[in-house]
Amino acid sequence: MKNLFSNMTDEQYIEYIRRQKKEFGKSLIILAHHYQNSEIVKLGDVVGDSYKLAVEGNRSEAEFIVFCGVRFMAEGAKILANPNQKVLIPDITAGCPMADMINIDLAQKAYDVLSERSDKKIRPVVYINSYADIKHFCGTLDGSVCASSNAKKIVEYYLNKGESVFFFPDYNLGVNTATLLNIDNETASINKNLQIKGDVSNSKMILWDGYCHVHKTFTVSDIENLKRRYDNIKILVHPECSKATAELSDIIGSTEQIYEAVKNAESGSIMGIGTEGSFVERLSKEFPDKTILHLRDSRCPNMLKITLKKLAHSIQSIIDNQNAGTPYKFEIPEIALYKEGAKKTLNKMIEIVEGGK
Ligand code: SF4
Repeated sequence: MKNLFSNMTDEQYIEYIRRQKKEFGKSLIILAHHYQNSEIVKLGDVVGDSYKLAVEGNRSEAEFIVFCGVRFMAEGAKILANPNQKVLIPDITAGCPMADMINIDLAQKAYDVLSERSDKKIRPVVYINSYADIKHFCGTLDGSVCASSNAKKIVEYYLNKGESVFFFPDYNLGVNTATLLNIDNETASINKNLQIKGDVSNSKMILWDGYCHVHKTFTVSDIENLKRRYDNIKILVHPECSKATAELSDIIGSTEQIYEAVKNAESGSIMGIGTEGSFVERLSKEFPDKTILHLRDSRCPNMLKITLKKLAHSIQSIIDNQNAGTPYKFEIPEIALYKEGAKKTLNKMIEIVEGGK
């Protein structure tokens, strides 16, 4: 990193980023995921969950999209971007252990094994928290991406056609979606060793056994402890949490849905929230008239790799490119091999969700 930034304070980084945003005007957009720290969120032109940012990134005509989130999100923006748009991520190592729990070879092998055991057409549905290779895999089989806010709608779309769904990588989102659809007794599962639990031929959903370590950590006791301390508490959890915690909750919602529920709750409400800790902390600061509590404080270290300093460096690399032709240091490379299928399957999700509005 250049010395220019070595000794700057957070306030100076913020001032630098604000100034550059003004200079770039509409040609630069900063997308910030809800799990980013508060200072980054304040600098975002759009703040949202994975789905909202994918849709807004797709609508944007900015030449430079700087994505403050993890790599699969920036990769999704790159897939949907037009060829003239550059997508940058302030730290390319910001990964997602859940997204790493399946790849195209494993998905293909699992799909083949499952297809042999089923008379029905099996359609792959991949959670947006995944890399381009398996989104592409889904696209080649006319499947769809889903997000936590729309998984029910996407799965229902295929079930209504008389097909069953191979759902990956997150098991909990799959099982919570099956519960919402009242088909939790009609699911099977498969793991990376291709071991199957349940009867595939009579299942409407077959679930991969991936998980998010940030959300898996919440327990039934966490909820019971808060309920013992506060009579009127409402419990909200993300669908990546276990079925047992979801069953004890008042609201199961995506990050965006949790945000809206807190925003719209009456002043004085007490809410216990089971999702990423930086986001819960920000909610408690943004809505001081409500008592917002962690079920337990569980943070995503990858999301927190994005810092003000790295964001400032990303923007500086655009300026260096314009002034001296140096390569963009933080650019998401072209995903030529997987772009076609991945784009098709992301657009399929947007078509099913936005088309039905
Ligand atoms: S919160 Fe979980 S799913 Fe989201 S990026 Fe972090 S590890 Fe991945």
